[in-house]
Amino acid sequence: MGADLERLKQRVPLLDFLQRHHWTGHRVSARSEFVGLCPLHEETHPSFYVNSRKNLFYCHGCGRGGDLIRLVELALQLSFRDSVAYLQEELAPTAQLLAHTAAFYQLELHRYPEGIHYLAQRGVRDPALIEELAIGYARGGNLRPHLQALGYSLEQLLQAGLIGPQGHDAFCRRVIFPCAQHDRIVNLYGRSIGAAFPHRLLPRSKGGLFAWDSVPHFPDVILVEGLLDLAVLWQEGFRNTTCAVGTHLTPAQFAQLCDTRDRCVYLAFDQDENHAGQQAARILAQGLHHAGLSVRIVRLPVGHDPNSYFASGATKSDFLRCLEEAPLP
Ligand SMILES: [Zn+2]
Repeated sequence: MGADLERLKQRVPLLDFLQRHHWTGHRVSARSEFVGLCPLHEETHPSFYVNSRKNLFYCHGCGRGGDLIRLVELALQLSFRDSVAYLQEELAPTAQLLAHTAAFYQLELHRYPEGIHYLAQRGVRDPALIEELAIGYARGGNLRPHLQALGYSLEQLLQAGLIGPQGHDAFCRRVIFPCAQHDRIVNLYGRSIGAAFPHRLLPRSKGGLFAWDSVPHFPDVILVEGLLDLAVLWQEGFRNTTCAVGTHLTPAQFAQLCDTRDRCVYLAFDQDENHAGQQAARILAQGLHHAGLSVRIVRLPVGHDPNSYFASGATKSDFLRCLEEAPLP
């Protein structure tokens, strides 16, 4: 175990890890020491030191220090065991493959107009939000040569489900939302802009709740079915919105919602004609209620989901009223 951990730390150098997670540090004189803002708390003067030779950090602000595993434990509030698992996953080739794929699709969104047109049609227009959510576009037919040029084998693309057995792109003509967990892409969601089946995920775990890292401190949380619902709500300022990508929550997603009892969850599922969304909301509401949370079921006009409600002209105050009037289950 000890030797394995040493190898793990050598393969994921502390400084590289920090930089990949958007930390910037400046070299301190000619030594292998870097200083920057501490990622573990808010500060304005850099007091976080990294020794890239010893692979150790120390913060003079909060007095915490240690190795890479300790950093992951503190930054992500994971146990030692989960931190090791997190770092092992970091080395998995699929994580990098998905990051390269998402980056490619993000560039493609600005190369072809149809993805942006589709988003605009669905009411998602704010360029800063599109950038923040890293929304991309898969035109189809050009991902494979791009990834192969980066050194990925056809076998890897097939295995990740990016390419079908006939060699076609799995996400042809879809707007792409990367699903990330702790800054790492764990899946891709593709919304068809044409006649193909609307929803597609890669055949792997959908991960936790979408963008959960930015949501749990809100006392009221809005849960929606789809990422286009989330996008319009974020655009309207409802940043306390998260999404399970579907109506069925995985046990991990359910546990995230229940990590505190001081939370009210507003379920804003589809108000579809066949009542599937509302039925799913009622079942989920019971589960959350049993777990000790307050739950409200948001009623939208018949035939609407949050996305279509806004796309058809509803305003922020219309939606606020729906929240206020949302009955207890
Ligand atoms: Zn600190």
